[in-house]
Amino acid sequence: MAEDLEVWKQVFQELIQEVKPWHRWTLTLDRGLLPNTLQPGWSQYQQWAFARFQCSLCSRSWASSQVQVLFHMHKSKEEPRGKVKMRVFAQRCRKCYQSPFEVPKFTKENISRILNNLVFRILKKCYREGFKSMEEIPTIKEISLEGPHDSNNCEACLQGFCAGSTQASSLPTHWSPRTNTYHHVERQVQVTPWNERLYSHIAPNPRHRYWNVCCCCIILVIVVVIIVEIIQWIST
Ligand SMILES: [Zn+2]
Ligand SMILES: [Zn+2]
Repeated sequence: MAEDLEVWKQVFQELIQEVKPWHRWTLTLDRGLLPNTLQPGWSQYQQWAFARFQCSLCSRSWASSQVQVLFHMHKSKEEPRGKVKMRVFAQRCRKCYQSPFEVPKFTKENISRILNNLVFRILKKCYREGFKSMEEIPTIKEISLEGPHDSNNCEACLQGFCAGSTQASSLPTHWSPRTNTYHHVERQVQVTPWNERLYSHIAPNPRHRYWNVCCCCIILVIVVVIIVEIIQWIST
């Protein structure tokens, strides 16, 4: 993380300098940062992002799109300066016994995307600037992920801070609508039900067809009766 942290700091400086050139902001790592536990005057921003991991015991690598990146930010009221504390939640190898928690590796593109979102939040929460609806830029998933999120080896899950830990535990995976995670879940959610719904529209219920025919007949009879009545009235 040490060399990575330099990239995070550098990209953050570039982005914040663009919008607040006269203000001094710092970004530091804080391994003890906890979601929703804020000091007075601080704001929070969380994003679930894509990153890769590598086991330091067996060298196996894996990817996850549910890597939690947590920021707490604070702007000084008196001076043009602010602070950002960051924590990235780790994951551990599921093949190794007593594997250590590994720090994720993000691409520079994804670091930029996450920090872009952060800078927008700083503008909104610390400067009361910005836009009403702020779309979060999602991180790029370099590969499509199969299988559920490995909650047993996710630091955020084990501490109760992961995106899905508030959802029903009976769900096969915990899928975050914010990060639009797992491929097989997307397939499950979108393809099967949509096919069923589509089919029910194409082939209507035969009972509905019967009632439609009946209604048409009744209207036809009424129209014929009215025409006959008009013809009789004219001829008299
Ligand atoms: Zn391993
Ligand atoms: Zn998790």
